[in-house]
Amino acid sequence: MHTAHDPYVRVRGADEHNLRHVDVDIPRDALVVFTGVSGSGKSSLAFGTVYAEAQRRYFESVAPYARRLIHQVGAPKVGEITGLPPAVSLEQRRSAPSSRSSVGTVTTLSNSLRMLFSRAGTYPPGAPRLDSDAFSPNTAAGACPECHGLGRVHRTSEELLVPDPSLSVREGAIEAWPGAWQGKNLRDVLDALGYDVDRPWRELERRDRDWILFTDEQPVVTVHPVRDAGRIQRPYQGTYMSARRYVMHTFADSKSQTLRARAERFLTAEPCPVCHGRRLRPEALAVTFGGRTIAELAGLPLSALARVLGDGDGGPAGGGESARVLTGDLLARIAVVTELGLGYLSLDRTTPTLSSGELQRLRLATQLRSGLFGVVYVLDEPSAGLHPADTESLLVVLGRLKAAGNSVFVVEHQMDVVRSADWLVDVGPRAGEHGGRVLHSGPPAGLAGVADSATRRFLFDRAPAAPREVRVPSGLLRLNGVERHNVRGVDAEFPLGVFTAVTGVSGSGKSTLVGQVLAGVLAERTGADPTGGAGRESDEGPESGAGAGSGAGAGSGCASAEGTEAVDRLVQVDQRPIGRTPRSNLATYTGLFDVVRKLFTGTDEARARGYKAGRFSFNVAGGRCETCQGEGFVSVELLFLPSTYAPCPDCRGARYNPQTLEVTFRGLNIAEVLDLTVEAAAAFFAGTPAAERSLRALLDVGLGYLRLGQPATELSGGEAQRIKLASELQRTRRGHTVYLLDEPTTGLHPADVEVLMRQLHGLVDQGHTVVVVEHDMAVAAGADWVIDLGPGGGDEGGTVVAAGPPAEVAEAPGSRTAPYLARELR
Ligand code: ADP
Ligand code: ADP
Ligand code: ZN
Ligand code: ZN
Repeated sequence: MHTAHDPYVRVRGADEHNLRHVDVDIPRDALVVFTGVSGSGKSSLAFGTVYAEAQRRYFESVAPYARRLIHQVGAPKVGEITGLPPAVSLEQRRSAPSSRSSVGTVTTLSNSLRMLFSRAGTYPPGAPRLDSDAFSPNTAAGACPECHGLGRVHRTSEELLVPDPSLSVREGAIEAWPGAWQGKNLRDVLDALGYDVDRPWRELERRDRDWILFTDEQPVVTVHPVRDAGRIQRPYQGTYMSARRYVMHTFADSKSQTLRARAERFLTAEPCPVCHGRRLRPEALAVTFGGRTIAELAGLPLSALARVLGDGDGGPAGGGESARVLTGDLLARIAVVTELGLGYLSLDRTTPTLSSGELQRLRLATQLRSGLFGVVYVLDEPSAGLHPADTESLLVVLGRLKAAGNSVFVVEHQMDVVRSADWLVDVGPRAGEHGGRVLHSGPPAGLAGVADSATRRFLFDRAPAAPREVRVPSGLLRLNGVERHNVRGVDAEFPLGVFTAVTGVSGSGKSTLVGQVLAGVLAERTGADPTGGAGRESDEGPESGAGAGSGAGAGSGCASAEGTEAVDRLVQVDQRPIGRTPRSNLATYTGLFDVVRKLFTGTDEARARGYKAGRFSFNVAGGRCETCQGEGFVSVELLFLPSTYAPCPDCRGARYNPQTLEVTFRGLNIAEVLDLTVEAAAAFFAGTPAAERSLRALLDVGLGYLRLGQPATELSGGEAQRIKLASELQRTRRGHTVYLLDEPTTGLHPADVEVLMRQLHGLVDQGHTVVVVEHDMAVAAGADWVIDLGPGGGDEGGTVVAAGPPAEVAEAPGSRTAPYLARELR
């Protein structure tokens, strides 16, 4: 028995995933870092065991009725844990942000700002004080009545709806109409209403064209369908709906993302004429603080907002004491966000445009002010997306959480973070079944004597990278006059046929330059749909103000480009999920699943039963378990708690019905095959070239530990990126390809980084070009060329501070990257 004064969390017999009956003692009130190669079991220990057990106890204490659920979800496989405080997890994966949320809502800073405007804003003479709700575009009290708080109004026009007026309605003049039966129906209704559907559109009367496209009437007529290849159809009552009505309705209400996106093509968005994009009622916009409206303040970078709040003393309207308290609170909270290197973000920035690292640090900043103590915070690579210069502030912030009386457990790969830990838990030695043991648990210095550890070499014997022959570029790609976000009027050069690292502090413009502008230019040149799309989701869809043309993603973001003719192909490998539902997984994404299903349909048993490939898919009816429709689990709704998933009571997670599972290939059924790790599958499928090729590529990028059926939703951004890279590597390539990658080392132990870099350099050796956005100085030091952006983030960044071979950039004055690069090259 341990007493409450025992300062350790003691884990006994942890068997979760690959953990090998781990016993480990972890101090509370300390900064504890978990290290180990990808797949070694760090997360299984920190999240899967420690956090999961804390969560289970929490559920039990707040909701005894939830026991049944906990039973279903399964408690972590662990003998016993003592000394465990409540836990809060800040995990990067599985936190799909919603598009209505923004920096302001995630941090709750928007609430405080609204309160400030309500209590201490400057009101027009005679105007009544407004409730803080009245300053939110997301409430009925605050939303602009014209645009319902969207800030934009959508319109359509004849040119958009009918791109080719030489066609008749029957020939498909009204492109905006739905396809298939529904479109034919509308045409027949028009016909029945007496409109000429066989004359070219441009020859119809203006009045008729307007009615067809824009009417709000919905007349009902009897339609006598006659056509359609002799098939006789009965007359029916058809309702007309104008093209505008159809498009608006689909755009606003359709549940189908595809249909909504299609409808959007026929709309232009203009800033709302009433609120001018500011989304609020006129009464709210008449109130100011420090001379600005709340919409203006929400659009400022946080660092600038802090200056306004620091100056404004509450205004004459008499906020007085309450204004001082509110601004004081706001300033303190903004300071934490700025400290974490995010001062360039504005409150109105929507979360889908943020990287997962930015989002996690915002949540971290929010926690710091929550006043909780005696809690274990479990974090997942908080340094992701952070420049080494900002890592120091991150450590300060983590130190403050600890000083407030909490335990901070982080899974990390950044050696500066590892070095400053109070305690190090090193898991390994390798991935999957070759890992799962705790090699060291104690102060970091103690790792020096652990020969087996993959981490040791990077913590203690940091040898400079072996000198490599510097490559000679095969060409040069030039972007002139780049204009996007904070990158203003910049010229940038990317040498071809070499490995280039783009560096710079968070917010300096790296993703903007590479992920958006360079990618956009090359996509246009190669006619490619960049595999990953333009990095993070952009706020700037075709609908956002400023002269956006009708072409999707219009505007390449630079005045001109030279040297692109040398490029045949663009491959953008980003960190976006490979799928948003558990229906996609590693095997479906890489195409391996097709191969596997073919092998199953080829078995004698499947032939005898007449099972085709569809039978072995969990996405269509037939072979799948119908209770969970092939998902393997069912959603359980709980009062007061977020809904949770529990394994399907019928198939117990297998996803298939019993008949399908009776068919085996080399002794395993389809569910068991999906449960294999990549490494095990490579042995299992030896001799089947199509499967071997995909599996080899996955092993090469260090993903041997993933299971084939691991749902896309369970993968981290880094894993998703490496899966994309692997499926790219297994392809045969022709011509000159440019590969763009955004922080490919995220989630990777330095030992894994070495493996990944060998792959990427291999591509360059074959004559291709690789451009990575990267914070890992080992990667930058090993590049042929470095482009350093900055010097700061947001308005203080956006220029090329230095460009050249690593050794040259390491000496560039004014570069915040230089000292760290120099340290790496020493
Ligand atoms: P790390 O955090 O060190 O990268 P993980 O703890 O995520 O490693 O994974 C350790 C092992 O556990 C790997 O072999 C992985 O495939 C396996 N694993 C991870 N998550 C699951 C899961 N949900 N179900 C089964 N196995 C899993
Ligand atoms: P980095 O990749 O170096 O972290 P980014 O290119 O993401 O930097 O950001 C550069 C600047 O552009 C920042 O000020 C950021 O706030 C702004 N920015 C980036 N993406 C968007 C977007 N989708 N909408 C508005 N501003 C953006
Ligand atoms: Zn409006
Ligand atoms: Zn089921």
